[in-house]
Amino acid sequence: MDNVRVRFAPSPTGPLHIGGVRTALYNYLFARQNGGKMILRIEDTDSQRFVPGAEEYINESLAWLGINIDEGVREGGPYGPYKQSERRDIYRKHVKTLMDAGKVYLAFDTPAELEARRSSTPNFQYDASTRLSMRNSLSLPEEEVQRLLDEGAQYVVRFKVEPGRDVEVNDLIRGKVVIKSDILDDKVLYKSADDLPTYHLANIVDDHLMKISHVIRGEEWLPSAPLHVLLYEAFGWTDTMPKFVHLPLLLKPDGKGKLSKRDGDRLGFPVFPLEWHDPKSGDISSGYRESGYLPQAVVNFLALLGWNPGDDTEVMPMEELISKFSFDHCSKAGAKFAFEKGKWFNHMYLQNTDNLTLAQLFRPVLNTNGVDTSILSDEYIASIINLVKGRINFVNDLWDQTRFFFMAPTEYAPKDIKKRWSTETPRIMEELIVLLQSTTDFSSASAEPVVINWITDHGYHMGNVMNAFRLAIVGECKGPHMFDITELLGKDETISRLRAAIGRITPAE
Ligand code: GLU
Repeated sequence: MDNVRVRFAPSPTGPLHIGGVRTALYNYLFARQNGGKMILRIEDTDSQRFVPGAEEYINESLAWLGINIDEGVREGGPYGPYKQSERRDIYRKHVKTLMDAGKVYLAFDTPAELEARRSSTPNFQYDASTRLSMRNSLSLPEEEVQRLLDEGAQYVVRFKVEPGRDVEVNDLIRGKVVIKSDILDDKVLYKSADDLPTYHLANIVDDHLMKISHVIRGEEWLPSAPLHVLLYEAFGWTDTMPKFVHLPLLLKPDGKGKLSKRDGDRLGFPVFPLEWHDPKSGDISSGYRESGYLPQAVVNFLALLGWNPGDDTEVMPMEELISKFSFDHCSKAGAKFAFEKGKWFNHMYLQNTDNLTLAQLFRPVLNTNGVDTSILSDEYIASIINLVKGRINFVNDLWDQTRFFFMAPTEYAPKDIKKRWSTETPRIMEELIVLLQSTTDFSSASAEPVVINWITDHGYHMGNVMNAFRLAIVGECKGPHMFDITELLGKDETISRLRAAIGRITPAE
């Protein structure tokens, strides 16, 4: 497809929700597939809801996920500025165009007046049936309007929705949706109080000026689409109106309804890409990045929430998603947020990540746990990771699986002592020390037969001796292959741990 230009248009009103991330991703996949442009537009016209740090959070999240932006606040581009609060002149001019064409009117009703009307008229709607009973430039005499303006009275500009129209929204996922204009209200497009447009006006004007070809956004915006169609018409832009694509909602993993932050807290999964520190309350919400997810896994998991490739393929890196993505295989129905599947994707992507890369991701976890990693090479950490990789879902899981490599045990699991450490054991472990001291090649392949032969030659119990050995080295009877562990720990450390265990463990009777 030629000249594909899509935009992700978040409002910086808080941390970007995982549903917003999916919207950004689908925009990106579609743009890349068609050799088009991905635009990031910051829709910050609601000054009341502005949250400091939210814009930086959006940038950082998209960068982490590999959703690259072609035009935006930081990237620049031919249609800037890309932040709506910096486009006031443009909106003012467009409000005037609509005003001159008689498509909008000024409304002077105060919040108190509107409130009074709402409480006296059930289901009150500001529209063709009520507007003449309100205080606006359609109902008031011209001189009165002029007087109010001269006095500096505050007003809003409302869109004059004509009743009796069938408004058609053509959606690439939902097909043709027809809505009667009678149910629409005369939406506010601009407020004199802060000299800012509302979402509807700014969004339409920018999509037009930025030559957006496809508006891909969440289903929650579908109710706004008929108004948007009417606005394109009012401006005379119907011929270049973008195609609409409303993506299915993300639903709770269990039960009905929209996925919420509370579901995440209740079931224990993040609903934000990155950890978020709320500037007002100080609350911290968990993020996928800090929880040990790989960005590639998050991308793959999200891509399949609302879309499928037409077959059972699940593991698809970004390039494959880009080539396979299509709106034809997007569902209309909401997608359950199966977060367990997210873990599975992470497991799969971890298996496909090389150990040196994992070593770098593991370093901060080691540091947090008090390990001085400055003396450890990436190669050494990588060879430890190699032994346990198959068992982990998250980088953070590595700590539980490998801690004994970095810190000698100081405690020993009582149930394993009971089972494996008898009064006989210290003597046998002393013998093992002597044997290991005389072993020159400590590699797993060489040391293993040496120890196994010694156990068999002396008629010792294989399970008891090997588990006692493990208890001394690991602190409990679990972990990867014993001789792989000792190879990495080396001879001195292995022997010193055996000695320590002999000194510390009180044998079971
Ligand atoms: N600013 C809106 C949001 O926060 C944009 C919706 C749209 O894409 O039109 O999602």
